[in-house]
Amino acid sequence: MSPVDRRTVLKAGGAIAALALTGAAEVLPAGAGAGNLAGATAGPDWAGFQKSIKGTVYLPGKPGYPTVRQLFNPRWDTIAPAGVVRTANATDVQKAINFARKNKLVSVPKSGGHSYVGASTVSKGLVVDVSAMRSMSYSGNVLTVGAGAKLYDVHAFLDKYGKSLPTGTCPTVGIAGLTLGGGMGVHTRAFGLTCDRIQSLGVITADGVARNVSATSDPDLFWALRGGGGGNLGIVTSFRLITIPAAKLGFFRLTWPEAKAADVVRGWQKFAVAAPIASWGNLHIDAKSNGTLSIHVLGISTTGNGAAAAAELESYVGSKAATRSFAVRSHMEAVNYLGGGATSPRQGFLAGSDVLKPMSAPTITALLGAVKAAARVKLPASAILDPLGGQSAKIPSGGSSWGHRSAVGVVQWYTGLAAHPTSAQLKAAQTFISNGHKAVRPSTAGGYVNYVETGRSVSTYYGANYARLQAVRKKYDPTNFFHNAYTIA
Ligand SMILES: Cc1cc2nc3c(=O)[nH]c(=O)nc-3n(C[C@H](O)[C@H](O)[C@H](O)COP(=O)(O)OP(=O)(O)OC[C@H]3O[C@@H](n4cnc5c(N)ncnc54)[C@H](O)[C@@H]3O)c2cc1C
Repeated sequence: MSPVDRRTVLKAGGAIAALALTGAAEVLPAGAGAGNLAGATAGPDWAGFQKSIKGTVYLPGKPGYPTVRQLFNPRWDTIAPAGVVRTANATDVQKAINFARKNKLVSVPKSGGHSYVGASTVSKGLVVDVSAMRSMSYSGNVLTVGAGAKLYDVHAFLDKYGKSLPTGTCPTVGIAGLTLGGGMGVHTRAFGLTCDRIQSLGVITADGVARNVSATSDPDLFWALRGGGGGNLGIVTSFRLITIPAAKLGFFRLTWPEAKAADVVRGWQKFAVAAPIASWGNLHIDAKSNGTLSIHVLGISTTGNGAAAAAELESYVGSKAATRSFAVRSHMEAVNYLGGGATSPRQGFLAGSDVLKPMSAPTITALLGAVKAAARVKLPASAILDPLGGQSAKIPSGGSSWGHRSAVGVVQWYTGLAAHPTSAQLKAAQTFISNGHKAVRPSTAGGYVNYVETGRSVSTYYGANYARLQAVRKKYDPTNFFHNAYTIA
């Protein structure tokens, strides 16, 4: 989801009280916890499991369960896990994996719960929810963060030290899911992907072994976890991430009329390839309910000079924008502007993606045609194009399984939906996404794993790195303990 979309969607959320950034389990509804497991006699020994851990187990019909099983997208509310364990520390995670194995429960990790396909929940299985493991510390330019921290909290914490991280912008996305699949945002071109900042990780693998993974310790796993996608290779309990300065950002926002749409896409593409790495711009092509397209670019310069970056984009487009606005924002002003505040309300949506190689003129025409077709049927759809290149084109030291270093950018096919859409609404949204894929087929290099979707072959998220990822997965998860329709097989 793009910053502007998010801003529109999330504005309604308002501010929440600051979260306590501790490693302790959250304050839970009265009655939640071991005492509520009385009567859970059949099958797994849930009461014994609860007694063995510091965190909390939630079971169907018991207090807390309806809330802890929710994901960001209400579409997945129908999925009922056999249990959710909100772990308090890495030992709890180990015990959860061992409990799941012993009881033959399919087990999935959950951090921020923003999976596009509901991959962080599982019917009749065990959800290992690490969201209470969100403690943070900072030393020597490195952030140590629990795998359950949310992006807003990470930025608010780092701001105290004059530091930041290249991340996405939705305040409630989990650091774990975002980082393991890549992590794109306004700093991608200047500082690389979130996964490129990993120095080491605490991981519990399928065998229940706790590992401190780095370039020198389990280096093959270190390579695989930097872009291999969440849920594939173990449960990450903590990250050590190399920070960046929390510099002021120069923002620009440019709009063009629909008649200029093809020029803008062509110009944006050139900008993504040739602009200085300090410049970044997110192109939105939105279907409006009157059948027309709205075209705008929201961009930044890490030099603080948004006007210069905008002028460069305009020179590639070949015309001045119809409207232009500029602002200079501090680190937290930028975080709040891009994410719409400290939290975000749940939102129904269906989305997919294509990682883009350079697009020819006919492919650009086809891309615009796909959004126009959605506008004609009044579907609230967008093609949102994020640039890659710059620092994200370089493989970081220690290597990385992120498979799209030479791509121009990523287009996301996004449709907002009701919490519980009808099958006709879902079908219309799916048609838009399929049309989008078809339109850019000559230029697609695969999909972005953080925008994972149904019906796409898993290998296409990883480019040439898939075979090596399969080998690493086989080594660390030989019995296929972590598995669902979206895992590396
Ligand atoms: C509103 C919105 C805005 C977004 N904006 C951006 C953006 O700006 N940039 C961007 O790059 N992406 C963005 N995304 C995509 C986002 O990066 C992915 O959805 C990401 O996987 C979410 O991570 P999560 O922890 O919140 O989700 P979860 O649903 O908790 O997890 C996602 C996946 O990771 C696995 N996982 C979770 N925790 C762990 C763990 N501790 N160890 C191992 N695996 C784990 C889960 O099993 C699941 O497969 C956005 C998504 C949404 C819904």
